[in-house]
Amino acid sequence: MNRFILALTASMMTASLAVADVTEADLANDTASTGDVLTNGMGRHLQRHSPLTTLNKDNVKNLVPAWAFSLGGEKQRGQETQPIVHDGVMYITGSYSRMYAIDVKTGKELWQYDARLPEGILPCCDVVNRGAAIYGDKVFFGTLDARIVALNKDTGDVVWNKKIADYKAGYSYTAAPLIMDGMIITGNSGGEFGVVGRVQARDTETGELVWDRPVIEGHMGMLNGEESTMTGTLNATWPGDMWKTGGGATWLGGSYDADTNTLVFGTGNPAPWNSHLRNAGKPTEGNSGDNLYAASRLGIDPATGEIKWHFQTTPREGWDYDGVNEVVAYEDRAGNKRWATADRNGYFYVLNREDGAFVSAAPFVKDITWASGIDETGRPIFVEENRPGDPAASADGNKGEVVFSSPSFLGGKNWMPMAHSPVTGLFYVPSNEWGMDVWNEPITYKKGAAYLGSGFTIKPNYEDHIGSLKALDPDTGEIKWEYKNDAPLWAGVMTTAGGLVFTGTPEGEFIAFDDETGEKLWTFQTGSGIVGQPITWEQDGEQFVTVISGWGGAVPLWGGEVAQKVNYLNQGGLLWTFRLPAQLASNN
Ligand code: CA
Ligand code: CA
Repeated sequence: MNRFILALTASMMTASLAVADVTEADLANDTASTGDVLTNGMGRHLQRHSPLTTLNKDNVKNLVPAWAFSLGGEKQRGQETQPIVHDGVMYITGSYSRMYAIDVKTGKELWQYDARLPEGILPCCDVVNRGAAIYGDKVFFGTLDARIVALNKDTGDVVWNKKIADYKAGYSYTAAPLIMDGMIITGNSGGEFGVVGRVQARDTETGELVWDRPVIEGHMGMLNGEESTMTGTLNATWPGDMWKTGGGATWLGGSYDADTNTLVFGTGNPAPWNSHLRNAGKPTEGNSGDNLYAASRLGIDPATGEIKWHFQTTPREGWDYDGVNEVVAYEDRAGNKRWATADRNGYFYVLNREDGAFVSAAPFVKDITWASGIDETGRPIFVEENRPGDPAASADGNKGEVVFSSPSFLGGKNWMPMAHSPVTGLFYVPSNEWGMDVWNEPITYKKGAAYLGSGFTIKPNYEDHIGSLKALDPDTGEIKWEYKNDAPLWAGVMTTAGGLVFTGTPEGEFIAFDDETGEKLWTFQTGSGIVGQPITWEQDGEQFVTVISGWGGAVPLWGGEVAQKVNYLNQGGLLWTFRLPAQLASNN
């Protein structure tokens, strides 16, 4: 009896000492709870907006560094993480599949986990990672060998480690995972290797697969260990066997909208890039070359993995205009529930949140060549002569006609997430004004080899800037203000109810803009290029802002003439945390 009471007391003491677990309610409430940042996107709607007003237009000039944290080692390269903050601990991921837990008050490391990566991983576009997820007593992140790892959040010990896909076939994983209803939802990377995009749900406790949804027509889904349904209709929009290696990598992860109980994932380019091999260069044959569901946004039922709706941004895709960019849930000024997404193809789309139906589209970059506009159904109005030519039609059959395409394949906007402010009603879109010479070549699929059938050279469209942060009105498509930057923008954006828009540049500047005018109100040189994602939270009555600095990503690897233009930029790997001291909060 005494022993029982002692044991009970001991376990209660242990429980009271342990730091709090993260619940489904915590995740659902993330935007409003200003003391933590628990989700990718600073809230499930991915608005990257904080309701905090402590830091504002008047006092942002008093924002000062609190601490910096080095990722260390020789492994630098692009740092694209969005930090998670929970119960006094910050969790970040780093290049080469590393994860760190840091004391938010002191900047001291609590633990570090380094994934042991095999030889022969095939990350297409730098060895980046875009952030972790947190739930229960665990933190989760994906690794470059296409695995998902669950760690004890207090110790960094591995709880489980599961294979998402075969890295030898070109699969990898770089997105922040998504948690809902006790499940961890992941996509995959590898669209340049003829992989097949998938969305998968696993039990967060065990890592066991609950359902699997391939996103290319013809492939079978899985639910609770058994075949569920075929995606789409076999050969409806794909010729022959091309669907088997059809691409559509879901490489940027997704979002969950509780209002409509829908998971939304974007899908990358159909493979290979040479669109003529997928029948996409033959518009007289109806929709046979649309190649569903590549270059699309998909609404998925979280209970079953069934596709509820789709919206294809670039049917007959032929420029590597991946359709993966984030889909942000918001309400328009009339109170309608909407999705907004700024696509690689240069158009900003508004969709109906209930069924994904097209509402409107507007260009957010200048000089779009491949389409003259978007029709009333949401389908692009193609400029046929600006599609890269069919090599089979050339004299020697080896190289199709070269065309100039804008935007370039790295997109009017790439992975770097935009932000919405419900205060101004605007979206703040990190975009790039660039084009490319592009042509097609013959190609056959070979496991683990690049599956493009294309060649390309990216070039700037303007001498004085490539990067362009735009404040865009989603109701009208109007650009309210623009900030031009010499190098291409590659960092995430954040808004606050204090009237601020934060982002960083490859030149290393971390900047706070006035959300109404675009005026630069504050700037800090971080020492390397910023391609990470800022966050803000409050602690002990003070507001903090964090961003990671560390130049890299796809531009230096794939950027052609642009890569040469920015090859002077130095690498790094420093996490910066800024603080508005309480005594300076009212000192205007
Ligand atoms: Ca929160
Ligand atoms: Ca791609």
